[in-house]
Amino acid sequence: MYVISKCLLGHNCKYDGGNNRNEAVIEFCRTHSYIAVCPETAGGLPAPRPPAEIRGKRVVDKEGRDLTFNFREGAYGSFLDCLQEAAAREEHIDGAILKANSPSCGYGQIYDGTFSGKLKAGNGIFAQILENDNIEIITEKEKIKW
Ligand code: SF4
Repeated sequence: MYVISKCLLGHNCKYDGGNNRNEAVIEFCRTHSYIAVCPETAGGLPAPRPPAEIRGKRVVDKEGRDLTFNFREGAYGSFLDCLQEAAAREEHIDGAILKANSPSCGYGQIYDGTFSGKLKAGNGIFAQILENDNIEIITEKEKIKW
């Protein structure tokens, strides 16, 4: 079973109320077992919402609110959902296709916390949890390898 960022499948859970629909990811999901998750809305955040970035050990939105708890709760809750779903299907989590650069789903590079569009090395909160569990992660910017 593969973990997919929900916004890549066209769900309007992105911060601006839109989505990041990606045809290659949708095509992949037609032929593979998957679970779609959105850690931010799972953490109680609405769509639309102000953009948020990781700054140090905190997650803050553009209006200066500290959303660290929402991000952590949503990320751990989504991971638990993935584990439970995999167990219910008697499958393993084989990998994840996550939205690049997001403070939740970004992998390898994320926005740097200044809301200036600059990137820094790092993982989003949800991606980090998956990596800690040795789950292979790619973003929608890479060719799907599975
Ligand atoms: S948290 Fe992840 S799935 Fe949800 S909108 Fe952001 S990038 Fe997409």
